[in-house]
Amino acid sequence: RVKRHHEVAFNYMTRALEIDENESIVDKKEALMLYLCGVGELEKGVNIRGEGVPGEREKIDRLQTKMLKNLTMARERVSVLSNKKDESAKSTQSLKVNSSKRNHSPTTRGNSGSTARVTLGQRPGGNSGSTPRGNSGSTSRGNSGSTRGNSGSTSDKPTKKKPSKTLRSVPEEMAKRIMDTAVKPEGNMVKFDDVTGQHTAKQALQEIVILPALRPDLFHGLRSPAKGLLLFGPPGNGKTLLAKAVASEAKSVFFNISAATLTSKWVGEGEKMVKALFAVAREVQPSIIFIDEIDSLLRTRQENENDSTRRLQTEFLLQFDGVGSGEGDQVLVMGATNRPHELDDAALRRFPKRIYVRLPDVGTRGDLIKMLLKKHDSPLGDREIKELGRRTEGYSFSDLTELAKDASLGPVREIPQAMFTTIDVNSMRKINFNDFLKSLKKIRPSPSMELLKTYESWNSHHGDTSD
Ligand code: ATP
Ligand code: MG
Repeated sequence: RVKRHHEVAFNYMTRALEIDENESIVDKKEALMLYLCGVGELEKGVNIRGEGVPGEREKIDRLQTKMLKNLTMARERVSVLSNKKDESAKSTQSLKVNSSKRNHSPTTRGNSGSTARVTLGQRPGGNSGSTPRGNSGSTSRGNSGSTRGNSGSTSDKPTKKKPSKTLRSVPEEMAKRIMDTAVKPEGNMVKFDDVTGQHTAKQALQEIVILPALRPDLFHGLRSPAKGLLLFGPPGNGKTLLAKAVASEAKSVFFNISAATLTSKWVGEGEKMVKALFAVAREVQPSIIFIDEIDSLLRTRQENENDSTRRLQTEFLLQFDGVGSGEGDQVLVMGATNRPHELDDAALRRFPKRIYVRLPDVGTRGDLIKMLLKKHDSPLGDREIKELGRRTEGYSFSDLTELAKDASLGPVREIPQAMFTTIDVNSMRKINFNDFLKSLKKIRPSPSMELLKTYESWNSHHGDTSD
């Protein structure tokens, strides 16, 4: 058990350090959250007692000593980062992720005795007596002076504080799961430039997501950015891709949660997850909650639907409204769906911005093929590209990607089997127009005309038709 906590903590700390040490990332909130999760795991690990397997005690001792050292360092880092964060968020000092278990001992003030929790400040000194190992008590005590008053005062009124402003009511495990869904900055993230076409969608996203974060002073009052944004349209045209671009270009913490995660993976825990999700998102704001395939969460309520789905929907809408109530809240909920017509009216109202992510037009189809062929020395001429654009009416971006992939195999298919293992790559012929003509017979457009009409009509009733 100790080892398992150590491993989990190690993973958190590694990710925290990556962000913390990356000079190009100015905002360290995510690192802070990861450190906190790591601290929680370390605390659990060092507090495990018992003999263990005979002969293992020494090993366990060594590991726990090592974990204590890590714990001290992590706490110091948390303290530094949280002080920085304090300049902009007053409530952060009391940031706590409690275990769902409450300790009712009056001497330890409600929850302070629980070890299964992550505290930003250190636990009050009164608690150190209850930690099983002398040395773990001493690290707690060592750091507790500066924050004791503060953490004590928040424990005094656990119920009075708005849950949305703190993480206090969120079970630790859940906070960790939520933080795991936050997109980690990586080198090869999708940028807006990687998304071909979709100018209207990109522009709307700039206006709602990117610009307000750059100039919050311009976007207040009536100009407050929308709290809900829905990307809808036929499959394979870049809804998920656009969201990924937002994740990499917006200066917000980006939670990427598929609706299926909330509805199926943790059966019965959906509501708690939703609560936790919004609480964490508020704490680390500015943040974006992205829910892919949101129709499976917010579809029109069915007669035969079970209660838990209904409760989940209600909880989601409630939490969503909570986000809208605070003028200063910078939490955006972004949804994507290819079934907008199945969305509940009540849900729809929460997404005032609805952006149609359409099929590519003739020019954009050519642009995409051209872009895809760049990796193969752009073997087709402009006229051929244009012609392909004309011949691919009704193809989605992903159909076109499949088409180009299939055509690119044309030269490979011509290699005689006997030569396959020896042929020199440079002697292979280039991809040509004819390869595309052959592939056009195999790869057909996926969205039907009927389906497209449904989107068009939904868009004209509910979508943003300004373009
Ligand atoms: P679904 O409704 O099925 O979830 P989606 O709209 O979310 O579909 P994506 O997952 O974003 O579709 O796109 C699928 C793939 O198609 C992408 O991984 C990418 O390869 C390609 N693609 C889609 N749209 C674009 C685009 N605008 N520019 C470049 N490639 C695209
Ligand atoms: Mg998608």
